Amino acid sequence: MTKVLKCGDLMPGCDFEARGETEQDILQAAAAHAKEVHGLDATPELVEQVQRAIKDE
Ligand SMILES: [Zn+2]
Repeated sequence: MTKVLKCGDLMPGCDFEARGETEQDILQAAAAHAKEVHGLDATPELVEQVQRAIKDE
């Protein structure tokens, strides 16, 4: 099953989506995206929010 993170769930207006087989894949992609596009570091709080926003597709 593929997992998907829609950045727009956390950052309204952003249409970035990360897909992966594991939560770890998505967290890595999300951390790189958050840094590049939103200027955010992957703090424990941010990681937790991302984990909660990951859904099975
Ligand atoms: Zn984004």
